Amino acid sequence: MGKATGFLEYARVENPYREELVRLRDFEELHTSQPAEVRQCQTARCMDCGVPFCQSDFGCPLHNLIPEWNDLLYRGQEREALNRLLMTAPFPEFTGRVCPALCEKACNLADDGVTNRDNELYLIETGLEKGWIRPRIPLARTRKRVAVVGSGPSGLAAADWLNQAGHAVTVIDRADRPGGLLMYGIPNMKLPKAIVDRRIRLMEAEGISFLLNTSAGPDLLEAYDAVLLCCGSRRPRSLNVPHQDAGGVHFAVDYLTAATRAVLSGSVSALSAHGKHVVVVGGGDTGNDCVGTALRQGCRSVTQLEMMPKAPDRRTAGNPWPEWPRVLRTDYGQLEASAVQGRDPRIYETTVQTIQTDSQNRITALQTVRLQRQTDGKLQPVQGSGQTLPCDLLLIAAGFIGCEAETLEHFSLSADSRGRLLPPDGSHHLGDSLFTAGDMHSGQSLVVRALADGRAAAREIHGFLKAEKNVF
Ligand SMILES: Cc1cc2nc3c(=O)[nH]c(=O)nc-3n(C[C@H](O)[C@H](O)[C@H](O)COP(=O)(O)OP(=O)(O)OC[C@H]3O[C@@H](n4cnc5c(N)ncnc54)[C@H](O)[C@@H]3O)c2cc1C
Ligand code: SF4
Repeated sequence: MGKATGFLEYARVENPYREELVRLRDFEELHTSQPAEVRQCQTARCMDCGVPFCQSDFGCPLHNLIPEWNDLLYRGQEREALNRLLMTAPFPEFTGRVCPALCEKACNLADDGVTNRDNELYLIETGLEKGWIRPRIPLARTRKRVAVVGSGPSGLAAADWLNQAGHAVTVIDRADRPGGLLMYGIPNMKLPKAIVDRRIRLMEAEGISFLLNTSAGPDLLEAYDAVLLCCGSRRPRSLNVPHQDAGGVHFAVDYLTAATRAVLSGSVSALSAHGKHVVVVGGGDTGNDCVGTALRQGCRSVTQLEMMPKAPDRRTAGNPWPEWPRVLRTDYGQLEASAVQGRDPRIYETTVQTIQTDSQNRITALQTVRLQRQTDGKLQPVQGSGQTLPCDLLLIAAGFIGCEAETLEHFSLSADSRGRLLPPDGSHHLGDSLFTAGDMHSGQSLVVRALADGRAAAREIHGFLKAEKNVF
């Protein structure tokens, strides 16, 4: 333990956000970093608990050795701390920016947990700046070739692991840039795309090939010794109301993809919110990303509809530490909307009843309705609660219902009732030389879970290949 009394002496200090009205002028990174002195105080807060819940199943899915690298960082042994982090964390520059930090909520300091995410980001960025991160080229190569389909976090983590084990890895993606939702989904202000590109360049230097603009087909099973499908959970949930095909109605990921393309090319988005009344259906993280993006594009107003009631401010008795706290969270986009509009954009227990259109089938307004939970748990519309909201751009961020039918058909696979490819034994093995990982395997989740799942699948594939003849 770095400093026995650190948690008593120093308050938790997070990397600050840039001021709302300033950061809304661009798509640059939301957070600013802090100097080494601040990091030392923050790591001094780690108590090196006998049972470190932060790295247990309640905390980090990668089981990062958090107390160990916090202690090394506190002692100024930055390089050793980084090496300890890299033992379990493949891409801390991603998780250090977008992870909801499950570890911090499982910390024994409870709501005042150690700033592990900021500490991890400091370590990797320091390592990159000081040239400690170099391409790790495997000393020996096997004769085995693995195709990883999908270059999201699960595919990248698996490719990294398998390449280090000596296999020849090709990552195949139908998109024009690698990264999956890290590239086209999570907005640039949360995860700058230059950070994703930097990691891809490093992986290429380590010997991994990327084949883009290419859809995967069953021919891969002939050409490679193993195939890993990491195609995500990309089927969006729709609203099931008439006129969803109207002009100005889009799914969140399509809208966010167009926004990122525009940022990368320095042009105006094909689906820009500029001058429009925007309504986002879905009060979650994806919806929040739409709010932040619409504000940056200069929307006239933005409203977010959430079906569920407002969450409590504090944990309830049924949701004790170290569980993830199901409490009200106000994310960057919602803070920005409040700063601009003088009100939180969220309207709770409300959904879309009808979409109104003009003679050219373009959306003009929405009829909303309030919902009330019945004794059987179902949400029912409240009679007479309808309201009209002006709307020229409706963004549907209502979640995802599983992997895409086309990919399943290509590989003669069928998903379970929740749209996942989850073998009954919980493994990643779909039969023969075919495997799966990430959101496609376990359903829409988080970057850190996709990374952990990609690494777990890679270990299974390695075992499968080792059992074959002619490995070396
Ligand atoms: C808008 C948004 C914001 C998010 N923000 C966060 C966040 O801040 N923090 C967090 O932890 N999580 C976040 N998530 C969740 C997180 O991004 C996902 O859980 C994670 O990306 C899943 O990784 P994956 O590798 O399984 O799949 P994906 O990232 O979905 O990647 C799948 C890849 O497969 C490719 N593909 C699909 N089918 C084929 C095919 N047939 N042939 C070739 N390629 C194919 C796709 O082009 C894509 O590149 C967010 C999700 C969304 C939608
Ligand atoms: S990856 Fe996420 S949960 Fe794991 S240590 Fe980093 S911030 Fe915590």
